[in-house]
Amino acid sequence: MMRHLIVGGGPAGQCALQTIRALDRDAEISLVCDEPAYARMVLPYYLEGKIEERAVLTADTDWYAEQRVATHFGSRVVAIDPGGGSVALDGGETLEFDRLLIATGSRAARPPIPGLAGDGVVNMWTLDDAKAFLEKPRGETVIVGAGFIAFTVLDAIVARSEKVSFVEIESQILPRMLDATAAAQMAAHLEARGIAIHTGTSVDAIEDDGGRRSLRLGNGERLLADAVVVAAGIQPNTELVAGSGITTGAGPGAGILVDDHLQTSAANVYAAGDVAEGFDLLTGEQRVHAIQPTAVDHGRVAGANMVGSDVTYAGSLTMNILAAQGLEACSFGDWAGDGREVHTALNAPNRIYRKYVFDGNKMVGGALVGPTLSVTGVNDVGMLKGLVQTGVPLGPWKAYLLENPLDLRRVYVASGAAKQLLASTLLTGSASAGGGFRFPALPPTRKRSKHHETLLEGKSAPA
Ligand SMILES: Cc1cc2nc3c(=O)[nH]c(=O)nc-3n(C[C@H](O)[C@H](O)[C@H](O)COP(=O)(O)OP(=O)(O)OC[C@H]3O[C@@H](n4cnc5c(N)ncnc54)[C@H](O)[C@@H]3O)c2cc1C
Repeated sequence: MMRHLIVGGGPAGQCALQTIRALDRDAEISLVCDEPAYARMVLPYYLEGKIEERAVLTADTDWYAEQRVATHFGSRVVAIDPGGGSVALDGGETLEFDRLLIATGSRAARPPIPGLAGDGVVNMWTLDDAKAFLEKPRGETVIVGAGFIAFTVLDAIVARSEKVSFVEIESQILPRMLDATAAAQMAAHLEARGIAIHTGTSVDAIEDDGGRRSLRLGNGERLLADAVVVAAGIQPNTELVAGSGITTGAGPGAGILVDDHLQTSAANVYAAGDVAEGFDLLTGEQRVHAIQPTAVDHGRVAGANMVGSDVTYAGSLTMNILAAQGLEACSFGDWAGDGREVHTALNAPNRIYRKYVFDGNKMVGGALVGPTLSVTGVNDVGMLKGLVQTGVPLGPWKAYLLENPLDLRRVYVASGAAKQLLASTLLTGSASAGGGFRFPALPPTRKRSKHHETLLEGKSAPA
C-alpha cells in the first residue's frame, strides 16, 4: 500500500489529498501542517465579518477521519531525506513516505524597514494576522505595498479604519497586475472615496510617536497611523529542503523547481502551489505564480501523478482578479503586451477600461476594469480568461471585437473557447471528486447580496 505524505494544508495540499483519495481508496495519506488547514483567499470574508472563524477552515475533524487521513496539525517539517523516504518534524518525530508532496506555500515578505517588527505592524497573510488586525482599535491605517494582496483585504481595512493610505514604491498602484491607464482608473476611484495614495516612494522607517506609528517616507513626508499593514510581496517556504538535494530556483523569492508532472529533482518528491516554480502556460518559463488557481491545478496534477497516473501539466496562466470599493479589475496572460499588438478602450468617467493583447489572430493577454456589480463585467472576466487560456484563433471575430470591445460574449462563444476549456478542467474527473460540503453539522445560511436586490428587486446598483 502506497504511503503518501503531504506537507501543507492550503489549497495545493488539500487538492492533492482529495485527488489521491479519489484515485486510490486504499492509499495511506498523512497531512502535516503547522497551521489549521484553510484557503487564505477566504480571509477577506472573515475580516469583513461575512463568515465566522470555523467557516474559514477547509474541513472539520470528522471529514479527515472519513477520508482516512492521519493529520499532524501544529507540527512543522524541518528536514527531508528523499533517499531514506522520511521527514523530520520539529517535535523530534520522524514520518516515513513512499511519495512526498511539499505544499508549504509562501509567507509575507518582510522588507528590511527599521521598526517593521514593532507593535501595531501586521501582515495580512495568515488567520492569526487577520485576528490580530481585528483586535486593533479603529483608527488610521497605512498599507505598505499597493499590490494584489493589499487589494483583496482593502474593503475590510476600510470598514475598520477612520482613514486609509497606501504607500507604494513603484510609480503606480497594482504594478504587477495593471498597466498605468488601468491603475489610474482604480487610483482615481479610491481617491474619490478618501483613500490617500503615495506612489513612487519608499517607507524608510516606522517609529513610535506617542504610542502611534510614524512612517518616514523616502520623499521626506511623514504619515501617522494606528495600524500598519505590510503587503510587500511573498517569500516561498523552501527552508525545509535545505540539505535534501532537492533543487530550487535562483535568487530571492525562488521556489522549488518542478517538471511538467510537478516532480522535483528527487523522483519520490513532488512540490505544488506557492512554494513551487512551475511552468507558465504562455511563456513556458519557470516561476512562482503565488495564486490560488495555480495551487489548485498543481495540487490536482501532483496528486494524480503521485498515485501513478501520468498527467502532464500544460502550465499555469498568469491571472489576477480583484474587487475593491465597488470596482473590479483583472488581468490575464501577457497583459502588459510590450512589443505586441495592443488595443484598448477607455470610458474614464465610468471607470471602464478594456485591453486586448494579440499575437496574430490569438489573444495572448488582456485586462478589464469596471464596476463590480455590472453583470457584463462579471461574466467578461471569465470569458477573457478563457480566450487567453485557450489561445483559440479568433478568425473574423478579432475584427468584430476591435469594433465592439465591450462584446466579448459573442467572440467567446463563436471561437469555441468553452469547448476547449472543458477538457482541461476535467483533468482528474469531476472538480468536486472526493469533496462536497465538509461541514455536515453546519446548517445552510444565506444572506441576500446587493446583487440580488439589483437584479430581482429593481433597486439600482450602489455607486
Ligand atoms: C488575504 C489573502 C487573499 C488572497 N486572495 C487571493 C485571491 O483572491 N485569488 C488568488 O488567486 N489568490 C489569493 N491569495 C493567494 C493564495 O491564497 C495563495 O496563492 C494560496 O494560498 C497558495 O496555496 P498553497 O497551498 O500553495 O500555500 P498556503 O495556502 O500558504 O498553505 C501552505 C501551508 O503550509 C504550512 N507550512 C509551511 N511550511 C511548513 C512546514 N515546514 N511544515 C508544515 N507546514 C508548513 C503553512 O503554514 C500553510 O498553512 C490570497 C492570499 C491572501 C493572504
